[in-house]
Amino acid sequence: MDYRLTEEQQAFRRAVAKFVDAEIAPVADELDTKGEFPLGLFRRIGELGYFGLRYPEAYGGSAADMVTYCLWAEELARGSMSVAATACMQSLMGTHFVFKYGNEEQRQKYLVPALRGEKIGTFALTEPNAGSDVGNIGTTAEKRGDHYVLKGTKTWVTSAPVADFLTVAAKTSPERGMKNIALFLVDRHTMPGVTLGKKIEKMGVRASDTGEITLEDVRVPAANLLGGETGGIEKVGGILSEIRVMTAALSLGLARAAYEAALKYSRERVAFGKPIGEHQAIAFKLADMLTGIHGATLMTYHAAWCLDQRLPVTREAAMAKLVASEMANRVADEASRIFASYGFAMEYPIQRYFRDARFLLLGGGTSEILRVIISKDLEPRARSEP
Ligand SMILES: Cc1cc2nc3c(=O)[nH]c(=O)nc-3n(C[C@H](O)[C@H](O)[C@H](O)COP(=O)(O)OP(=O)(O)OC[C@H]3O[C@@H](n4cnc5c(N)ncnc54)[C@H](O)[C@@H]3O)c2cc1C
Repeated sequence: MDYRLTEEQQAFRRAVAKFVDAEIAPVADELDTKGEFPLGLFRRIGELGYFGLRYPEAYGGSAADMVTYCLWAEELARGSMSVAATACMQSLMGTHFVFKYGNEEQRQKYLVPALRGEKIGTFALTEPNAGSDVGNIGTTAEKRGDHYVLKGTKTWVTSAPVADFLTVAAKTSPERGMKNIALFLVDRHTMPGVTLGKKIEKMGVRASDTGEITLEDVRVPAANLLGGETGGIEKVGGILSEIRVMTAALSLGLARAAYEAALKYSRERVAFGKPIGEHQAIAFKLADMLTGIHGATLMTYHAAWCLDQRLPVTREAAMAKLVASEMANRVADEASRIFASYGFAMEYPIQRYFRDARFLLLGGGTSEILRVIISKDLEPRARSEP
């Protein structure tokens, strides 16, 4: 692969970084403390056209490649993981299924305003008794004439407390297990029976609203079945690599923010007559942090490039997400040690990086699940691309 970014990608990155430094980073701590959905910033990101990065121009998008999308996700996460998590849900899982499997009317009604930031979309798969084990979901969709009746409970759904529309995974024939999982477009405002539960109080990404959804006999028109009664898991699988590579990019952004703060502090804080960064123990920590970021960056953008080239990417995406998310947690931990007591103080953002980094270990599959995926494809290859 070509590891160099094109001039266009570099210019895009600079523009996003400028926006993040001016409008996101300065309010990140306040958003986290209040734990409020950043509606103003959400609308602004929509105005700037960023939600449409992965969609065709006909719907208000810019049809950007995955490398460009990752540059955007990485920069947002450098400023605020809460804003980045919210924005990535909107620009990927929250809108992808309407675009890919919805009809033209649904795209105009949901996708187009969502890309402008005027409607909030989300994706509801996880349930109280089914997270990694998606085949175990209990939500059912029973066909009755020209509509389906949905029943069940979803949880841990990003943006659920503020969502306008949801893509919901449900079983059309529960006895046939995961083969019959289907995806439904549910409009919260026009389909009675959708109850948005209370917001989940979280230790990290606190300004990204997460909540439960109860579906009580929700009548969903048959036209809102997204892509047929079966194959829902395969449809989700179709964007899992993108989700994983995006999460790897978020990890890079957080790690860079923590590293840069730690590096600056190591040059300012004096102990035993010299800046702490001149003590080898601290300098080696910084060296390991920087090395980890560099390695994960190469893996992440290599996987993004594989996606752009339509090369096999399942293993590369899982590896990138595994390495980058674990690296971000180590970097946040080391940054906290470099700040010592000040890393423990709410006054400094280090504790926020430390808390937010835990989120990266969950979205897109836990590290254990990623190892399960990688372990299914253990044949050595001289190079990742064929
Ligand atoms: C902030 C946040 C936002 C989220 N947003 C969304 C969203 O928008 N939509 C949505 O649908 N979900 C969302 N989720 C849910 C998330 O995807 C799940 O929590 C995640 O898939 C893990 O599921 P679980 O918590 O039920 O853990 P479990 O699946 O119960 O796993 C528990 C432990 O067992 C391990 N484990 C499970 N199976 C295996 C196995 N086969 N081999 C080895 N180890 C295994 C896991 O790695 C983990 O360590 C979100 C979660 C968080 C924290």
